[in-house]
Amino acid sequence: MATLKTLQGDHYLVPLPVALSDSTHGIITHFELITARVTDADGAEGMGYTYTVGANGAAAHAIIARDLKPVMEGQDADLIEKAWQRMWWAQHYGGRGGPASLAISAVDIALWDLKARKLGTPLYRLLGGHDPAVPCYAGGIDLEFTPEALLKQTEGNLKKGFRAIKMKVGRARLAEDIARVKAMREYLGADFPLMVDANMRWTVDEAVRAARALCEFDLTWLEEPTIPDDVQGHVRILRDGGLPIATGENLHTLYEFTQFIHAGAVTFPEPDVTNCGGVTVWMKVAHLAEAFNLPVTSHGAHDITVHCLAAAPNRSFLEVHGFGLDLYIADKLPIVDGKAIASERPGHGVAFDWKGLEKLRAK
Ligand SMILES: [Mg+2]
Repeated sequence: MATLKTLQGDHYLVPLPVALSDSTHGIITHFELITARVTDADGAEGMGYTYTVGANGAAAHAIIARDLKPVMEGQDADLIEKAWQRMWWAQHYGGRGGPASLAISAVDIALWDLKARKLGTPLYRLLGGHDPAVPCYAGGIDLEFTPEALLKQTEGNLKKGFRAIKMKVGRARLAEDIARVKAMREYLGADFPLMVDANMRWTVDEAVRAARALCEFDLTWLEEPTIPDDVQGHVRILRDGGLPIATGENLHTLYEFTQFIHAGAVTFPEPDVTNCGGVTVWMKVAHLAEAFNLPVTSHGAHDITVHCLAAAPNRSFLEVHGFGLDLYIADKLPIVDGKAIASERPGHGVAFDWKGLEKLRAK
C-alpha cells in the first residue's frame, strides 16, 4: 500500500503576457492557478493543477486544502479509482461540478503523476499508450484583436510549428466574424485545419445561422456555439448548421459528457483534464467517445493533456494555449511540424518553478 502522506493545495494569480479576450469572459488579464501536491510514505511526489480565468480559484483551493486534505491523507494513493470516489462523495452535496470538480481534478492528476513516477514510466504509457506524437493546434484567444493583430499572431504560430489554428468568433455582428474567418482562411490556404470558438455566445437560432454562413470556409469545427446546458440545442445546431461541433470545457462531469454524446449533440468531445474530474474522467470520456465512433480533443493544460491524447486511439487535436504558465514550467512542450510530443520523463513530466510562483501567491 502506498499511503498518501500529505496533500498540499496552493493558489497563485498568474499575469498573462498579453491580455486575452473572448465573447464570454471579456478582457482577461490574469488567471488563477491552483496546485495540488501529494507525497506518499516513501517520500515519492506527485503534482496536479487546475485553473480558472478570474473566479472560483479561492473556492477550489479551499476544497483541496481544507476539505480533501483530511479526507485523502492516510488513504492508499495507488487505488486512484477508489480515491476518486472518496473525493466525489465527500464533495457530492455542493459538488457534481463547479469548484469541486476543479479541486478533484487537481488531486486526481497529482495521484496519476505520483503513480507513474513511482513506476518510472511516462503517464501516457501507464494510461495504455498509443502515440506520443499528438496533432495540435494553437488556441487563439483573440476576439478583440484587430485583423492585423490576428494575422500577426497567426504568423507567429506558424513559425512556432503549428499546423492547425483556432480563432474566436462571436463578435457583435455576424458579418465581422465572417470577414475575420475569411481573412484567416485566405491567409492559411485551403487545406489548413482552422477551427472557430464562440464561447457560448449565441442562441440556438443565431448559432444555426452563423454555422451556415461559415460553412463555405471548410472549418474543422465550431466550438461552444451556445450554453453547455442545452443538449437539444446542440443537436439542432449540429443537424441544421452543417458544421462539426466541439464542446466540453464547461462540462465538468462524466455524466454531462454522457448526455451530449448519447444525444448526438457533439462531434468532438473536448474535456479539460483540470476541470472534468482529472485524468480518471478524461480517459473515460475519451473511451466513451471511442465507443460512439467519435474523435476526442482537449481543452487547456496542454502539458498534461498531451499524455491523455497520446493514450487515446481516437484522439484528434490537442489544444495548446498556456495562459503564460509556460514561463513557470521547466521544460516546454515540444511542437514539431504540427505535433506535440509527450515527454518520456516519468509521470506527466511537468515541473513548476515553485520559487518563481511564490511571488504570485494569492493573498
Ligand atoms: Mg473554447
